[in-house]
Amino acid sequence: MIEFKDISRTYHAGSIDVKAVDRVSLRISAGEFVAIMGASGSGKSTMMHMMGLLDRSDSGQYFLAGQDVTGLSDDQLAAVRNRSIGFVFQQFHLLARMTAFENAELPLIYAGRRDHREKVIKELTAVGLADRMTHAPSELSGGQQQRVAIARALVNDPFIIMADEPTGNLDTKSKDEIIGILKDLNAKGKTIVMVTHEPEMAAHAGRVIVMRDGKIISDDRKGMALLAAAPDTAALKAAGVEALSLTRRAYDLAKVLDSAHQAVNSMLSHKMRSFLSILGILIGVGAVIAMMALGSGAQAAIEAQLASLGSNLLMVRPGQSHSQGVALQAGAVTRMTLQDLTAVGQLANVKRVSPSVNGRVQVVGGANNANTQVSGVGVDYAPMRASIPAVGRFFTDEEFKGRAKVAVIGTTVAKELFGDADPVGETIKINLINFQVIGVLPAKGASSFQDENDVVIVPATTAMYRLLGKQYIDSMYVEGASPDVLAALQDSVLGVMVKRHHLSESAGSDSFQIRNMADVKAAMETTTKTMSMLLGAIAAISLLVGGIGIMNIMLVSVTERTREIGLRKAIGATRRDIMTQFLVEAVLMALIGGISGIVLGVGSSMLLTMFAGWAVKISMSSVILASTFSAAIGLIFGMWPASQASRLDPITALRYE
Ligand code: ADP
Ligand code: MG
Repeated sequence: MIEFKDISRTYHAGSIDVKAVDRVSLRISAGEFVAIMGASGSGKSTMMHMMGLLDRSDSGQYFLAGQDVTGLSDDQLAAVRNRSIGFVFQQFHLLARMTAFENAELPLIYAGRRDHREKVIKELTAVGLADRMTHAPSELSGGQQQRVAIARALVNDPFIIMADEPTGNLDTKSKDEIIGILKDLNAKGKTIVMVTHEPEMAAHAGRVIVMRDGKIISDDRKGMALLAAAPDTAALKAAGVEALSLTRRAYDLAKVLDSAHQAVNSMLSHKMRSFLSILGILIGVGAVIAMMALGSGAQAAIEAQLASLGSNLLMVRPGQSHSQGVALQAGAVTRMTLQDLTAVGQLANVKRVSPSVNGRVQVVGGANNANTQVSGVGVDYAPMRASIPAVGRFFTDEEFKGRAKVAVIGTTVAKELFGDADPVGETIKINLINFQVIGVLPAKGASSFQDENDVVIVPATTAMYRLLGKQYIDSMYVEGASPDVLAALQDSVLGVMVKRHHLSESAGSDSFQIRNMADVKAAMETTTKTMSMLLGAIAAISLLVGGIGIMNIMLVSVTERTREIGLRKAIGATRRDIMTQFLVEAVLMALIGGISGIVLGVGSSMLLTMFAGWAVKISMSSVILASTFSAAIGLIFGMWPASQASRLDPITALRYE
């Protein structure tokens, strides 16, 4: 069953080498009950750990059930421990946050045999704990805890039980109970190896091996009744082979669920700590969503505004002219007339033109009055500036030529003067002159600087000669045939103006300012994009900080649970099992943070719209992005702590204080 050939294990403590086990050769047959005795530090535990595949020898060969196990990988060793060996430790090593049942069930989970629950009940009943299955270890006496540990060692039907000082921490009555259980198991065919320093315990064994300084000094088989019930070696071999093949078992959901269960337990037992690290992700995700909503809201608002500017537009205004080095007020020298406009309108590649004359006026309508801006424009202004009336009509060419007293009013003016009533057909007074309202402009997006709906539009001729007393126009809009001609058009418009005003080439470009609205649009779009990206970057940084918070907590959790990891490995958890457990915990924390963050982000965006009136636009993509990102953060930042945990050596971890 167990065959050691020249097995040695040396520890390097500082500069001294301690030969814990020194060239031991030993053979233990199936069905034996062996007690290993010796003074403290004689190498008993070390030898047992090597027998139980918890530790590797430095040299020598080890055959378990006829199979050479010296060169097996860590995960293969884990599988053999899980299926073929049951451990009982002096310190019981039960997991405190789980019930007796869950503790005893653990090896089944790592074996992928979660459905064998009746086996757990059977073993717990066999050790007399049928009525204690839902108790936590802290609610059990030492003897009862050790009995849970024995049940745990038996659930996978191992052929060897290894017990290291199983009675070391118990009172006399419990000692007798535990030794009774072990003898009973031996009688049923289990091979038992027990380390003890108490002669009265060793007296129950059929064979007593005494060690000193890493060597066996006596090996006494008293009576040595090899049991009839001993399992046959063929079956043992089969079990060993089966255990090895288990390393390549398919991944199973039960283990992930178990990990999730563990994760919830561990989070619940450190509520404040978990809450704080979740908070980091929560704020990060909330910020990402709210910031992105703000960014795209602002972008949408600006885009609406840009659309109302019209496309392919040039705006021509009198420039600042210099007279003997002194800058004069705009328009002081050069003024534009309607004749200039007609001349520009005849240029090639010009689609439409419109003048613009502006001033502030007092408007009276019904019983109300308002101070607003009047714009005198041309007939083509409506299609050029996306201002075709929503209700009523725009003025005609005849009305323009006849300086007709007709007005198209903006929605703000309509509301101020007439409330919700239809203003079309009503008469209003602009600077005491009667005008007929013929239409209402479509509502335009609110600009941050001025209300674009607070305007009255009249024919430019009417504005100049009847309302404002101007002989000149303030600016002109020129629409090009296509976006590509705008640059050339800019030059030809300037050429016409220079010629008509008899200016020198150099003075011309000073006298007129020609703005390409496409450039303005592009500049504004770049600005909003930069702003959204900046907001997103700030939010992403807070998410990163949240991720680091999770990593920090996970590292603490790994350190704190070192012994738990050691135990899990001892009873058969592979690296991947441990890795999964911690990753699931990190991802779960990040996801909880992520989901609460989405609620927070969406909620605060809505509040911003409702109470601050900010334009926000929550996009599905930002929600999806934030939740995937937070899960990814859990994965990425959980990876390192999890891999630290998975790499722990079972024995070092079990001994960790
Ligand atoms: P026992 O169980 O018989 O009391 P151990 O097998 O635990 O003895 O230890 C045997 C020897 O190896 C002791 O001298 C002990 O100090 C040493 N030893 C055990 N584990 C380690 C370790 N991880 N590092 C260094 N020395 C160790
Ligand atoms: Mg020991």
